[in-house]
Amino acid sequence: MNYLEGLNEPQHEAVTTINGPLMVLAGAGSGKTRVLTMRVAHLITNGIDPFNILALTFTNKAAKEMKIRIAKVVGNSEAKALWMGTFHSVFARILRSEGHQLGFPSNFTIYDQQDSLNVLKKAIKDLALDSDLYKPKKVQNRISQYKNNLITVKAYYNNLDLIEADEKANMRKMGDIYQKYVEACYRNGAMDFDDLLLRTNELLTRFPVTLAKYQDRFRYILVDEYQDTNHSQYLIVKALASKFENICVVGDDAQSIYSFRGANIYNILNFKKDYPDAVTVSLEQNYRSTQNIVNAANAVIAKNLQQFKKNVFSENEEGDKIKIYRALSDADEANFVAGNIWEMHNFKQKKFSDFAILYRTNSQTRAFEDALRRKNIPYRVYGGLSFYQRKEVKDLIAYLRLLVNENDAEAMMRVINYPVRGIGNTTQNKLIVFADSQGLPISKILNDLGYYAPRLGLNNGIITKLSDFWSMIKAGQVLLKTEDVYHVTMEIGKRSGLIKNLKDDQTPEGISRLENVHELMNSMQGFIEEQQQVEDGDPSLSNFLENIALSADTQNKKDDDDAEKVSLMTIHLSKGLEFPVVHLVGLEEDLFPSFMSSSTREELEEERRLFYVALTRAEKSAFFTYAVSRFQWGKIKDCEPSRFLSEVDGKFLELINPAVESRLINHSGLQSNIFGDESFSSPFLKKKEAKKTLQKEASTLVAKNLKPLSTAKIINPSGQSSEDIEVGDSV
Ligand code: ATP
Ligand code: MG
Repeated sequence: MNYLEGLNEPQHEAVTTINGPLMVLAGAGSGKTRVLTMRVAHLITNGIDPFNILALTFTNKAAKEMKIRIAKVVGNSEAKALWMGTFHSVFARILRSEGHQLGFPSNFTIYDQQDSLNVLKKAIKDLALDSDLYKPKKVQNRISQYKNNLITVKAYYNNLDLIEADEKANMRKMGDIYQKYVEACYRNGAMDFDDLLLRTNELLTRFPVTLAKYQDRFRYILVDEYQDTNHSQYLIVKALASKFENICVVGDDAQSIYSFRGANIYNILNFKKDYPDAVTVSLEQNYRSTQNIVNAANAVIAKNLQQFKKNVFSENEEGDKIKIYRALSDADEANFVAGNIWEMHNFKQKKFSDFAILYRTNSQTRAFEDALRRKNIPYRVYGGLSFYQRKEVKDLIAYLRLLVNENDAEAMMRVINYPVRGIGNTTQNKLIVFADSQGLPISKILNDLGYYAPRLGLNNGIITKLSDFWSMIKAGQVLLKTEDVYHVTMEIGKRSGLIKNLKDDQTPEGISRLENVHELMNSMQGFIEEQQQVEDGDPSLSNFLENIALSADTQNKKDDDDAEKVSLMTIHLSKGLEFPVVHLVGLEEDLFPSFMSSSTREELEEERRLFYVALTRAEKSAFFTYAVSRFQWGKIKDCEPSRFLSEVDGKFLELINPAVESRLINHSGLQSNIFGDESFSSPFLKKKEAKKTLQKEASTLVAKNLKPLSTAKIINPSGQSSEDIEVGDSV
């Protein structure tokens, strides 16, 4: 197939304008990602060496899919040479070969959020600071913000505004924590996620020869989802592109949803300033969704003041209206969604993989998992506590990390006494304190235990235990030179006693933990095979660890196990994806928009963009659900429907349970009676719960000087018997 066929005119222009800066600014579903993909194919077809192309995507998954599409046009071997991936994965790769200039070993460990949090907790403790005042998560966010704005420790101490802001927030010791944290990471040979960008910037500014090398290499740079790049990412792209200026960015300001992580919408808005000669292309036709969905989404986003006005239309079928289900509880909501999926699967020829359930926060997942499991519907949860973050998996991985980088103190402390081998807290503390005071990694002490043990005051029994532990690690390192990762892992699992420890636990939880460890081994086997198939494949343990460190935030296990499964994810993770049927759930005030983000207009506008992203994932049908009561923090909480529901024009909506209609009418204050003649039934509701809900609705009406009915009917699940309950009396 000719890849240029089937592109509309502006898409064609964007794909075929090879040289110079180019920006595509366009609404959801208009083919931005498709343009980017075809543009890469076009470059290669026109004789540009794939080696000279760098494409940055938002997720690893997106990169993989793009590569497959490109391979279809230009062939496998060409596509393989492409550098395509997330900012983090691409620049981790560069830092592996260049990081030594900054004093990092090539086998540096990548710390995930939890690792970095542990290091921070220790720093806060060492500085004898109050962890109620210096909440580790909060400290972590602040440091992340510094890093993403390229504020190093030194720059921090020179920045009076920042210091003042931290003092105002009662965190005057932020600089000290920051410094301690950076030193600890450095000593551990580790980088956190933000470091991967910060250090790349450092590399490119401090070493002009290295910068020139990569400028010459990446002559063509393409960035997807440009609206969500942060300052650090922006600077990297700018530096790399500054020689040839063959840079193509695509994005949509209406889908900027990561400002809480430092994304800077001005990067896209200022593109023209950075590159005055830039060609800009706008795409207006949405190919993804029905007219109804596109129009509804447009109407909502139009409420934002801060935006480029865009015209987006669809020539697809008009499509069904968006259906709203008003649930009585969170469990009811989940049951409805699972039931709906089950029905559409069985009677409307939908595949399970056609469905997505999108929510605002990860904590909403569990109810849906329960409901889907009960109906035997296969599903996959993206994000949240990933497979690699489970304790038993992390334990084994910590051993592996130690084999690759013995300076990794985080990993060391995790396993030095797990399984229990008599190296208790006292000994551990001695090691840590001594290492800190000497500015040494603990591995150094263990490597030369004969020399250090007396200085630490360790007795013979402890010395033997420590040296046994360390010999095991050393033996593993030797093994790594000849055996593949799978075998080394198996060996270390056995020699450490970890596998036996898990086997001894015959409880269902214990068995499932052992299964997870087996699953990790399976994924290694898969990894080895995968690496063997690609040209410059690298089946090393350090590459395996890097892969999981960089995918842990978004993926569960293997990439390809989502066939025929319903996808569950936060809206944030759904960016760029599309599904025939989308359930957008938990549409309640304080949940979506989130209670943390509805105090300022800016925050609210970001929530609205999030809503826009969610709705525009849907191709054929969308379902909105909300619950009138929800179990939260151990209590039943009453909820109001989200304001976003009322922002969608009624002509795009259809209410699928009658109570919703009354409720919505009630909201606009037009009717004095919520229940009217309607009775409603829910197979999921207990009588007591129903009565409570009804009474609550009645009292809301009374508070508004409206008159509720005094009785309502409850029909049992079987539909056989019914009962009137009094609601008016109690108000
Ligand atoms: P988002 O803003 O959500 O990331 P996008 O602008 O990147 O969306 P794509 O994902 O590239 O949009 O395209 C949306 C859908 O429309 C895809 O299924 C794509 O294959 C299809 N599409 C794009 N352009 C065309 C076209 N010219 N003809 C037919 N289908 C198209
Ligand atoms: Mg896209």
